[in-house]
Amino acid sequence: MNVTASTPTVFDVQRIRADFPLLSRSVHGKPLVYLDNANTSQKPASVIEAVNAHYRERNANVARAVHQLGEEATAGYEGARDKLARFINAPSRNELILTSGTTQSINLVAYSYALPRLKAGDAILTTVMEHHANIVPWQLVAARSGATVKAAPINERGELIVDKYLEMLTPEVKLACVTHVSNVLGTVNPVREIARECRKRGIALLVDGSQAVPHRPVDVQALGCDFYAITGHKMLGPTGTGALWAKREHLEAMPPFFGGGEMIREVRFSGTTFAAPPHKFEAGTPNIAGFVGLAAAIDYYESIGFEAIHAWEQQLLGYATERLREIPGLRIFGEAPEKEPVISFLLDGAQATDMATLLDLQGIAVRSGHHCAHPLMQFYDVPATLRASLAFYNTREEIDAFIVALLKVRKLLM
Ligand code: PMP
Repeated sequence: MNVTASTPTVFDVQRIRADFPLLSRSVHGKPLVYLDNANTSQKPASVIEAVNAHYRERNANVARAVHQLGEEATAGYEGARDKLARFINAPSRNELILTSGTTQSINLVAYSYALPRLKAGDAILTTVMEHHANIVPWQLVAARSGATVKAAPINERGELIVDKYLEMLTPEVKLACVTHVSNVLGTVNPVREIARECRKRGIALLVDGSQAVPHRPVDVQALGCDFYAITGHKMLGPTGTGALWAKREHLEAMPPFFGGGEMIREVRFSGTTFAAPPHKFEAGTPNIAGFVGLAAAIDYYESIGFEAIHAWEQQLLGYATERLREIPGLRIFGEAPEKEPVISFLLDGAQATDMATLLDLQGIAVRSGHHCAHPLMQFYDVPATLRASLAFYNTREEIDAFIVALLKVRKLLM
């Protein structure tokens, strides 16, 4: 998408904010300014009500009962799969596994796709800017198989060095991984280009889409990857929801990861046969109400449209970056030309956690810490950063309040 920070947009943010009950609360006697959206987003009333209505009116288990409630609960759950498949343009609803989030999605690929293929001397390629969820599962299966995990480097601006990534796609690499958008830097990675090069080399590509789907339209077919992992709670949905999209040929070849009810065709002690994907990978009772909520979250995104969301968020990102750059001694981590609205920063001489605590006392919620990205912190040689991450329901006035609070904190700590 080619929308610049200065694109004028008519965006009725106050009307949108009215849909999010939590945004009107106060914290420590101050109006809440919620800038921790990369951690988890707030939920519109329509999502909260969809979950509530499920439990009040349609609660039953899925795929087990022939009674009316069971049919309605199944329709809600399976309806969410249809919506999610459409949301990321999956070629088929049967290629979409519903999971508890990106962490489970990636672990499913690690144990079900990667582990059976890996042998000593093989490698998995990831990058220095990944969330631990796109590093540690690979280390666990590498340790079991004698494979190694390689990490492609980034530059000081927080961009992936793509040439180096492609150079590292050597014949021992059995799976390549990359985040679509960095949760710390906001950097948008060139997934299409990486996917094209992976296809040329016959290497499957997994994309961590956790931080992309809340901000931009995703089309897995246009991206050309093999696996795309998403999490529901960062995209207006309930916690404990997410999905893995994978190409049918992979899902058919992959053995199940969890065994149990709902994932079988026939169970005998002489040998069990499994259901077809996606059910082969969905043992046990899922988070039915959560997925009903996630379906409502998708409806909400679609009622606004990503063009408007993206334009507004990019305006906010441009404005917040400009205001932060005016503060002496403030360093921003992540200055790629194409970013989603995530700004990590530090102030000379101040600890990130102290700053986050003092900001909280003024009603400003930002995250401090390593953001589950130790290798990235090691690259920048810092233990932690502060991170302000924006959503389309944030306003310029909130950014002004954040800057005023930050200047106060700076005075206190300097
Ligand atoms: N990948 C990225 C880029 C993330 O930002 C997160 C959440 N912070 C995850 C993976 C893990 O998501 P979840 O905990 O919802 O599974």
